[in-house]
Amino acid sequence: MSDCIFCKIIKGEIPSTKIYEDDEFFAFKDLNPQAPIHTLVVPKKHITSLMDMEEADAPLMGRLLYRAQEIAKLQGLGEGGARFVFNCKGDAGQTVWHIHCHILGGKRLDDGFG
Ligand code: C5P
Repeated sequence: MSDCIFCKIIKGEIPSTKIYEDDEFFAFKDLNPQAPIHTLVVPKKHITSLMDMEEADAPLMGRLLYRAQEIAKLQGLGEGGARFVFNCKGDAGQTVWHIHCHILGGKRLDDGFG
């Protein structure tokens, strides 16, 4: 999608700190980290929100979860653990309309679900 900021990051049109890339997924450091490790994992396919995915996207999203936990381990979170978050639509505070999984970790996140 031409005006999507994450599509532009995936294409390298907007700079980011890349953590991982393959044919289907791109992961980069969140610009406004909420934890010592805060990484976003996005599918290269533009889907606006988890709650807008179609059933045909289920295998892709399953692989996204598998990659996300691998990326968390690559970043040293295997022992301590991590939080994996999808903000979906307005009430959840979604601000970028391209599915992304937040990986948060590197400290104890004992702040509820915030
Ligand atoms: O889940 P939500 O849509 O609120 O998250 C979007 C995230 O994308 C924010 O955490 C924001 O810091 C991040 N972002 C980024 N680089 C950009 C634009 C947004 O890391 N260029």
